[in-house]
Amino acid sequence: MTKPLIFDGHNDVLLRLHQRDITTGKDGFQGTGGRQIDLEKARTGGFGGGFFAIYVPGEHSLSENLDEMLAPSYDLPLPPQIGWDAASKVALSQAAILFNLERDGALKICRSAQDIRNCLSSGIMAAVMHMEGAEAIDPDFHMLEVLYQTGLRSLGPVWSRPTIFGHGVPFRFPSTPDTGAGLTKDGIRLINKCNDLGVMVDLSHLNESGFWDVARISTKPLVATHSNAHALCSHSRNLTDRQLHAIRDSDGMVGLNFAVAFLRSDGRMDEDTPIETMMDHLDHLIAQLGEDRVGLGSDFDGATVPAEIKTIAGLPNLRSAMRERGYDDALIKKLCHQNWLRVLDLTWA
Ligand code: ZN
Repeated sequence: MTKPLIFDGHNDVLLRLHQRDITTGKDGFQGTGGRQIDLEKARTGGFGGGFFAIYVPGEHSLSENLDEMLAPSYDLPLPPQIGWDAASKVALSQAAILFNLERDGALKICRSAQDIRNCLSSGIMAAVMHMEGAEAIDPDFHMLEVLYQTGLRSLGPVWSRPTIFGHGVPFRFPSTPDTGAGLTKDGIRLINKCNDLGVMVDLSHLNESGFWDVARISTKPLVATHSNAHALCSHSRNLTDRQLHAIRDSDGMVGLNFAVAFLRSDGRMDEDTPIETMMDHLDHLIAQLGEDRVGLGSDFDGATVPAEIKTIAGLPNLRSAMRERGYDDALIKKLCHQNWLRVLDLTWA
């Protein structure tokens, strides 16, 4: 079952292509050579597109710490801050990879919800340019202005690492998301600027103080592109019911993260995780947020996902699980892409 097409809140394919081939970005996307995302797998899975993250990796990649996330509890330290010079260089090259993919006809960069609708009806992959962690944004917002003009429509002020804008949440289990200070003064200016430009602010990776800072000042619906329910998995990256209710009250939404460490009640990075665990989170998110405020935010090419899904080619198994859970056609369509379109209509208006 490859319909309804899935529009997804988060992937890291640009990072993967950047690390593999920073000159063309073609390798491992156009055919079948991708890890979790490529065009062939997209056809098989009914993947219509999503948010493509520009992300600046640290000197030591998180994958070196993954073994720690197999322990019953863990607390990975926040990596050190990355300077603007180094970050902007990487960000520009990942943006260039995305433009190259568009020029080669692999996808279309979408700047409006209508652009995404056109892609879903014509079958070309829809890509929203997102930035995960604002290390490449200077405090005068010159880079933000330029990236917005080229297509940037979504920004997370922090990844799990400090920036000049805020502090980020560490990978810690078990833990509440309340792990430290929130946004800086520049961070508050950044939220205002994003609101003015029509750039969506992504709450995933903010700690709880940062979350409430955005909730207090943002004029747009609150959105966490790839986060799960803290009530079911007490990971620092997940959202408490109180946070979910603030998202509901703002008419925002949450995209279900497929990363097993944010799904499992034991927080372990173990791909032997039943699809039912994903469904339990969807049930909880729907109960807290309502049917119109939940979608998907896979984290493909950036995370270990349940073995029954594995790549975007495995997305039909998720649709089947939704049916087995008793979700009707209308709800499945909302979860697969309609709710993202709804919130982007409100956010980018
Ligand atoms: Zn992320």
